[in-house]
Amino acid sequence: MVWAIVVLGLIWSLLGLPATGDPLDNLQEYQRLLKTQQELLNYQKQQLDRLAGPAANRLSALQQRVQATAAQTAANRQKLAQAQAQLTAVEQQLQAAESKLAAQQQVTVPRLRYLQRHPPERWWIALLSSRDVEEWARRRRQLPRLYDRDRQLLQQLQTTVSLVERQRQQVAIARNELALIDQQLAHQKAGYEAESQDQQRAVERLRRDRQSLELAEQRLQEDSQAITRYILGRSGNPAAFAPGPGGLIYPIVAPISSGFGWRIHPILGTQRFHGGVDFAADYGTPIYATHAGTVIYADWYGGFGNTVILDRGDGLTTLYAHAEDLLVREGDTIQAGQAIATVGSTGFSTGPHLHFEVRIGGEPTDPMAYL
Ligand SMILES: [Zn+2]
Repeated sequence: MVWAIVVLGLIWSLLGLPATGDPLDNLQEYQRLLKTQQELLNYQKQQLDRLAGPAANRLSALQQRVQATAAQTAANRQKLAQAQAQLTAVEQQLQAAESKLAAQQQVTVPRLRYLQRHPPERWWIALLSSRDVEEWARRRRQLPRLYDRDRQLLQQLQTTVSLVERQRQQVAIARNELALIDQQLAHQKAGYEAESQDQQRAVERLRRDRQSLELAEQRLQEDSQAITRYILGRSGNPAAFAPGPGGLIYPIVAPISSGFGWRIHPILGTQRFHGGVDFAADYGTPIYATHAGTVIYADWYGGFGNTVILDRGDGLTTLYAHAEDLLVREGDTIQAGQAIATVGSTGFSTGPHLHFEVRIGGEPTDPMAYL
């Protein structure tokens, strides 16, 4: 809204002052206004640059953090894949050892059991079936050797079993450690992902904020240009502007919540020029005409919301914005103190209030000098 007023003033000055009267005076006045508005425009541009710079830096920092997080997550995934490959290899080794053990057991254990059930001392009975004494003697000599070889096999098997068992324990420990790492990585990854999503949302929010700001600014500029053209077209011959001193009554019975001039914008946190005075009041509070005059506008006006513009006929106009209901119509002749609207929060407004402006020759002026 304030920007609109600033731009309104600029457009007004660019459109030029009346060509009537003393040409030299008019030219000097025109140059003075042009200089003032150029300064205002430069200030506005600086404010935008100040907003755009930190926003871009923050966006860049956020994007870098997102990239760093993605890189770290990728590195963690690689580490996990390596650990899983290692686990798979160890498990394969264990499987091979177990297969070997199973095969050895299948071959050796039945024979060992047989030997255990049939001690060598009693084997002579079985050996009676030998064809001759020589064979019997040969078998009798071989028996202890056979028994010793099987006993050695058993010992080897037991060694292999304990070896494989140790390996199994090592693999189990490794598996537990890897499972723990896996859990930690999953937790870390989830954290990074959540952070990334937050950052992505923050970036998105920032982008939307900037878009909204740009759209609002563009809209206000368009509104201002249109309202300036409108006032110039409806308030008679600008050459006749010769506003008298003061004499305005208060437009509302309510406390002032924001004065005229430069101020910190409540939402954007940057300095903006406020072209009017804000009065805080509830919805429906009556708004009064501060002077007698003609209604040159009574309708919705973009960022201004429901707006009434009164023309005193001497170059002084007053504007009443963000109204809820409009009680007058364009062309009405109004007496000072007449109710013309009620307080609302229409247009670019964050709560019910009256935005009241006094303009001299279209340029916003501190209303307090006239109240
Ligand atoms: Zn305001």
